[in-house]
Amino acid sequence: MRILVVGSGGREHALSWAIAASPLVEKVYCAPGNAGIAEDAECVPIGAMDTTGLIGFCKQAAIDLVVVGPEAPLVAGLVDALEAEGIAAFGPSAAAAALEGSKGFMKDLCARENIPTAAYRRFTDVAAAKTYIAAQGVPIVVKADGLAAGKGVVVATTVAEANDAVDAALGGRFGAAGAEIVVEEFLAGEEASFFALCDGEHALPLASAQDHKRVGDGDTGPNTGGMGAYSPFAAVTPEIEAQVMERIILPTVRAMARDGRPFKGVLYAGLMLTGEGPKLIEYNVRFGDPECQALMMRLQSDLVPALLAARDGVLNRVDLRWYDATAICVVMAANGYPDDPQRGTEIRGLDKAASDPDVKIFHAGTRRDSDRILADGGRVLGVTATGRDLAAARDRAYCAVDAIDWPGGFCRRDIGRRG
Ligand code: AMP
Repeated sequence: MRILVVGSGGREHALSWAIAASPLVEKVYCAPGNAGIAEDAECVPIGAMDTTGLIGFCKQAAIDLVVVGPEAPLVAGLVDALEAEGIAAFGPSAAAAALEGSKGFMKDLCARENIPTAAYRRFTDVAAAKTYIAAQGVPIVVKADGLAAGKGVVVATTVAEANDAVDAALGGRFGAAGAEIVVEEFLAGEEASFFALCDGEHALPLASAQDHKRVGDGDTGPNTGGMGAYSPFAAVTPEIEAQVMERIILPTVRAMARDGRPFKGVLYAGLMLTGEGPKLIEYNVRFGDPECQALMMRLQSDLVPALLAARDGVLNRVDLRWYDATAICVVMAANGYPDDPQRGTEIRGLDKAASDPDVKIFHAGTRRDSDRILADGGRVLGVTATGRDLAAARDRAYCAVDAIDWPGGFCRRDIGRRG
């Protein structure tokens, strides 16, 4: 088979790496990819949002399956466009990607199906939103409805902060993504991520993970795309996993099918583990980045048949095996991230750092300049390691981090500490 992975981050590097390991695969391409992905796939300079360019490439290169990594092309309908041209694609249709693309859509579905989530109201009017906030009190959460690159959520501890978030979103800070907002109840508890593969009718649980969104040690500083993750997350016990499948994932898959928007692809549930059981904070319609890097290191089975089965609606015939190990991904970001990452600094020592067979360094934002690897993004590397337990995996990952000679970058030193 000839497979095209769409995207250019650490998640797409991990997917390209896992796909390249499949005996079913003759050739892996990645559009547009990065310097690290180029070691596992042939990179083609076509952007993830360039639907016409991607379709043209798939026809010319006789691509058998396209695997779409990021949310933006999914929400924009890349899978629909590919399938309409007879090109098989893994990932949700635009109609199904609304689970991530519109928080209001997701909340209404939860309300209809009795899926446990925070109580909420949708607003387009500033005064009405503020009246609701005044009545509910704080803490309270204000969210832009659409995709806002992880910046559309404010957990407000004062009414003034909540009102400011309403003014900002409905005032146009996030463009069309903030034309509507969701104001919801604050949920207290431990956050967890849970991933399931779906084929429109069936759902196969993949794994749990915990990510670290804040830029600084001890969960301080601004939110980022994710500074590290590990899997599995022990707080997601088999009993909690069963509750998540029965109360959250499966009712969602059934409701989406009933609504004529069957969900195919990776359903990523952001959860709050509360005293009343797991509650859904949000859905994403693709693998998390960096959770994907940790998951792919733990996956023992061939990924490709599972992706094909999800696309073809026969996931009930698939059984995935996982290594009985913990995997951790420590993200190294360019100095200045997330506000103003410095580009172009040289990274040395990558080969030495990756010499341990239980370490894999996934690239997120790098480019090659003859024989030098340069930083070319905010999040730049995902140093990923496995170990028999979390402590062993952490030690191995930080040992590799310390072997990387990159004064232009930094990482959190406490990934996995809460586990
Ligand atoms: P989201 O983009 O919806 O995942 O929100 C980003 C982050 O905001 C989450 O990872 C949580 O840390 C926090 N958050 C979102 N919704 C809530 C909520 N209802 N209660 C508490 N924290 C929340």
